[in-house]
Amino acid sequence: MSGLSGSDDLNGMYEDIILDHYRNPRNTSSLSKPDLELDVNNPFCGDELKIQLNIKDDTITGVSVSGQGCAISQSSGSLLAERIQDSSTDTVIHVIEKVRKMMKDEPISDDDLDLIGDIEALQGVKKFPVRIKCALLGWSALEDLIKKP
Ligand code: ZN
Repeated sequence: MSGLSGSDDLNGMYEDIILDHYRNPRNTSSLSKPDLELDVNNPFCGDELKIQLNIKDDTITGVSVSGQGCAISQSSGSLLAERIQDSSTDTVIHVIEKVRKMMKDEPISDDDLDLIGDIEALQGVKKFPVRIKCALLGWSALEDLIKKP
């Protein structure tokens, strides 16, 4: 199962963004000295992601996301990497909340959409419950990494 089957699955603009990130993923080079690192997988689909972070003074100064799996999981990881680079951890926590909200089909404001940017493209997935796990795999991992007890 490699992802996007037909043109009915996602509307065109969203699909373009997702395929672009799938084919040309951002921030895949491993960090030489990650402060935080986590490997996660989604057994329902076979997706794997490795997330590495450098954090200095509550800012994400380095991020690497790499892995294998379906287009949704991998493009979501790339969108995540692009979005959180140079962001504060507080902002990242907000972004994670908005992404979860969006995927649960809860209403989100224009300000929220500005905050998440291109990640909005993932909302085309929300009508496919199985793929929501793919879309949120990286975000759940990120949350685990930065929300330390
Ligand atoms: Zn998947």
